[in-house]
Amino acid sequence: LDQRDGWIWFDGEMREWKECKVHVLTHALHYASSVFEGQRAYNGEVFKLHEHSERLRKSANILDFEIPYSADEIDAACREVLEKNNLTNAYMRPLAWRGSHELGLGAHNNPVHLAIAAWEWPSLFSMEEKLKGVRLAWSDWQRPAPDSAPFASKASGLYMICTLSKHAAEAKGYSDALMRDYRGYVAEATGANVFFIKNGEIHTPKPDCFLDGITRRTVIGLAKEQGINVIERVIMPDEIGDFEECFLTGSAAEVTPVAEIEGTIFEKRDICQKMIEAYADAVQPKKAAAE
Ligand code: PMP
Repeated sequence: LDQRDGWIWFDGEMREWKECKVHVLTHALHYASSVFEGQRAYNGEVFKLHEHSERLRKSANILDFEIPYSADEIDAACREVLEKNNLTNAYMRPLAWRGSHELGLGAHNNPVHLAIAAWEWPSLFSMEEKLKGVRLAWSDWQRPAPDSAPFASKASGLYMICTLSKHAAEAKGYSDALMRDYRGYVAEATGANVFFIKNGEIHTPKPDCFLDGITRRTVIGLAKEQGINVIERVIMPDEIGDFEECFLTGSAAEVTPVAEIEGTIFEKRDICQKMIEAYADAVQPKKAAAE
């Protein structure tokens, strides 16, 4: 990924993709003092761009640092990246991190950097998986308690157990993992929120120790618009077999059906299909209403 041609917005200027490097004494590399966003552009416009830029700034604030650009400036930089790279449908990755001025744990004097990259990335999962549904394995790692990790921040450090979970799932022949939380409740996948369906109603865990995804909130809104009841509640792992459908949501994953959670099969797709279509429609830029 680092050897491509293209341009990355880096601390206020466009730099050649291959030249966007950081020093090995970068604070973020040692202590995970970095936060990021994942967002998609559809037909030239980033879906919920301003919400992503605001979340990026909030994520940094939660880690006790300030990004030296406003959310409006981050929005503008994202648009510049798309234009400079001639991209209309793309995945984008803004990243903010503490630099290499000093290396102690106390890091107030470190400059904060911001870089924004974009590239074509059709799907988090393969096309086949998006059609047939992904197969998930249970992770042995738990999402930590709210007083053990700054869960509302999209902080790089929180992804350590996600990579471990994904690798463990892949080693068992699955493509992703479903994680429980510190209480043993169903939480989320490694980079996406999870939803279940039973008797025409949608059930999803309360985001009280994991990221309340922008896609999650969008899909809840779309479901309600269609008159589908959405229940946010505690979901126990042993209830999984009672559900008829399951899907994941995320900016990268969009709405992806789940075919199996380690032996529990989900074959029905009615509401899942509705949500896939509603989301695919919602992300498209809306043309100004005809006068
Ligand atoms: N949980 C985790 C751990 C994630 O990485 C993501 C992707 N950002 C999500 C949930 C979904 O968030 P969003 O819908 O805002 O992309």
